[in-house]
Amino acid sequence: MSDAGSLTATEERYTDAHRLFLQNCALQRVMTQEATHDLWQRAVTLIHGSEGGPDESLEDFIATINEELDPLHMELRVVLDEISDAQWWILVNLKGDEIAQLATLYTPTELEAFKYLIQRIVNSDDGNFCLGSTEAINELYRESNFNNKLQTQDFLKRLIEDRWLALSRGGYYHLAPRAIVELQTYLKDEYDDAIAECSLCKEIVTKGERCRNEECDTVYHRRCAGPYIRVHHNQCPSCKTDWDRAILFGVNVAEGPQQEQSRIQVTRRSGRTDGVVSAPSPEAQLDGTASEEEFENV
Ligand SMILES: [Zn+2]
Ligand SMILES: [Zn+2]
Repeated sequence: MSDAGSLTATEERYTDAHRLFLQNCALQRVMTQEATHDLWQRAVTLIHGSEGGPDESLEDFIATINEELDPLHMELRVVLDEISDAQWWILVNLKGDEIAQLATLYTPTELEAFKYLIQRIVNSDDGNFCLGSTEAINELYRESNFNNKLQTQDFLKRLIEDRWLALSRGGYYHLAPRAIVELQTYLKDEYDDAIAECSLCKEIVTKGERCRNEECDTVYHRRCAGPYIRVHHNQCPSCKTDWDRAILFGVNVAEGPQQEQSRIQVTRRSGRTDGVVSAPSPEAQLDGTASEEEFENV
């Protein structure tokens, strides 16, 4: 780049490459780290040619986009998968009243149905924060104003496409990272007693480790537990019971050992992280970036 170019670099940091990247993020809402990296490379090459754009890391590139998003109360944020630590980039809406925003996306019947599902997942009898698919369809049909089961099924499919819910291989609906991040305030306000917060990072946790003392409500993300336990000698900070890292909760536990086994095998075969594999439906889209046509049409 010439000297004249670098004089205006600050004002011109937000380029067409950033714009193109953001338009694709808005279409996809949730992307893997790999897909995000690929999209960034393609956007820069498409706008700046094969010699590449300004010397900027992916983190700086996204920071520039976040400056533009700030007045809109939106942010591209990295979220770690609860089990595998895989990174997901999510376009997050930061405005306070999250459920009110949903009213612009869904009809009143759909919104009530969504709230019903959230309530069932959060209050799941076994504490695994998930709901079997047959139960979900039957209950939703019974409790909501959908005309028939097909309509009910279509709505569940849409919640997965919109990245609020994920369906595990064993057929359990659970909250997807988008719901955990964007509906955080709603979940904490509405389900203060039922929702679990990681005792270490204070974020919501729906899959992780729990204290073996059933009277104690200490829970950890797997990723938070590891480093903590190495330092604090396997003791629960609250009840002082010895911590057993094999006492888990979440959708993988609800699926039972058989599903767990096949999930591990799939993980090994595909070389993917288990958090990604455990959510097969959104996975197909999460693994890819926008198709060539989508990319050029935005
Ligand atoms: Zn944590
Ligand atoms: Zn405890």
